[in-house]
Amino acid sequence: MSVIGSLIFCTDCGNLLRESTGDANATLLCTVCGARNKDIVPDTIISESKPSAFPSALRAKRSAVQTLSAEDRKTEAVTERLCERCGRNEMFFTTVQLRSADEGSTVFYRCVCGYKETSNN
Ligand SMILES: [Zn+2]
Ligand SMILES: [Zn+2]
Repeated sequence: MSVIGSLIFCTDCGNLLRESTGDANATLLCTVCGARNKDIVPDTIISESKPSAFPSALRAKRSAVQTLSAEDRKTEAVTERLCERCGRNEMFFTTVQLRSADEGSTVFYRCVCGYKETSNN
């Protein structure tokens, strides 16, 4: 019969100590109250952990994650800009926030002739 893997609790404060080493002469130091506990599994064996003993992890769930991508904020507008290829003084432009907000944005220009240009603010 082996007791390795059994859970040992601090006799002073009830804190869960590390797993039993199976060595009855070993001493398990409680990290909460500092009490030294003998590595002896209590006679009363706790069969299975009660579900109520473990608070639901769902409580810690957070939904504050922002999933707004650069693609979502893409809006094309027309501006006065000279196309270097065809000389047309009108280009479509899209502003994209590539990195963090304090690093500025990148403007993509597009002409109807197919010419493309980027500009970093
Ligand atoms: Zn303790
Ligand atoms: Zn053009």
